[in-house]
Amino acid sequence: MTTPWGLPDFDEHEEIHFVTDEKCGLKAIIAVHSTHLGPAAGGARFWHYAKDEEALVDALRLSRGMSYKNAMAGLPLGGGKSVLLAGESRDKSPDMLHAFGKAVDHLGGRYITAEDVGMSVADMIEVARSTKFVAGLPNSPGDVGGDPGPHTSLGVFLGIKAAVKWALGKDSLKGLHIALQGAGSVATGVALHACAEGARLSIADVDEAKAHKLAERSGGKVVSPDEILGLEADVLSPCALGAVFNERTIAQLKVPVVAGGANNQLATPEDGERLHARNILYAPDYVINAGGIINVCTEYLADGDATLVRRRIEGIPVRLEQIWREGSETGQDPAAVADAMAQRLIGRA
Ligand code: NAD
Repeated sequence: MTTPWGLPDFDEHEEIHFVTDEKCGLKAIIAVHSTHLGPAAGGARFWHYAKDEEALVDALRLSRGMSYKNAMAGLPLGGGKSVLLAGESRDKSPDMLHAFGKAVDHLGGRYITAEDVGMSVADMIEVARSTKFVAGLPNSPGDVGGDPGPHTSLGVFLGIKAAVKWALGKDSLKGLHIALQGAGSVATGVALHACAEGARLSIADVDEAKAHKLAERSGGKVVSPDEILGLEADVLSPCALGAVFNERTIAQLKVPVVAGGANNQLATPEDGERLHARNILYAPDYVINAGGIINVCTEYLADGDATLVRRRIEGIPVRLEQIWREGSETGQDPAAVADAMAQRLIGRA
């Protein structure tokens, strides 16, 4: 299929900005997918890409995912995302973050940034020195704001519980085996919630030290990153990077449920059908992992408190059940059902 600009992942994105600042070494892409429901909100990713083209694909796919995510979470926000291309050394400097902030500021509020993989609350403080269009800033205890990770983890945990109830008829994770891919911010919260409910965890991270640290905190067992997808378990929770599921990896799965926080888990839309054909219940990624953006949105719009954030996050399992119900009625896979719902909400059905 021919697509505008020859970019397979281009989806009528409203704006794509390429930012370079040789003095500080900044190379970034800011993609605004849709502002139909409000300013395009989505985090900034700091990552080393083997090729620049991969960064563009990431920005295009992640920003569309944010439009869908924000719409499905009922937020008055559009979708956008930025990627900062890390060099081989993965060095990040305050000057680089200021330059990025200036680029965000230049968009006049059409894009709002926050943390994503490779970016911390401290980094957002630097970015905020150049722009007010930033969220995920530090907060006082009990206030809305701060690191979105724990809120994402809570939503993923509630989503896993809903999936286990839907697929296995169980009200609790007690005694269930959860295979966790990743031991970073989101995975850590998921592991701690799940172990508090009595789940048994297997944890894999390419950074072995992180996997061991999380295993110690959660009473889990470390397995190698090559093993995690083929593990026999009740739930596979991908909480690392995207494009985990393709024809090859889906064939090796030995779980009835896939529910995790990573963005863009399916390599292609056909992979949603493949999971469905194998009778594996899938929790669409941008629905289950909306807890962080819910917190970011409430902070940015200053329209509620921690109780409202919690209530909005508790809407995640309700939305998932709506998707699974519609899927079981129509025979469509959950990813396709979610995409169609989201497209209707952003006026692109
Ligand atoms: P993070 O950087 O804290 O953790 C990611 C972890 O994944 C790292 O420890 C990394 O070493 C590990 N990893 C990378 N490739 C791996 C592989 N092949 N196998 C095993 N481990 C691997 O990031 P995070 O904030 O926890 O985010 C995790 C995922 O959740 C990302 O896809 C992110 O886009 C998504 N997400 C995060 C948030 C949030 O609030 N932080 C919100 C929504 C979605």
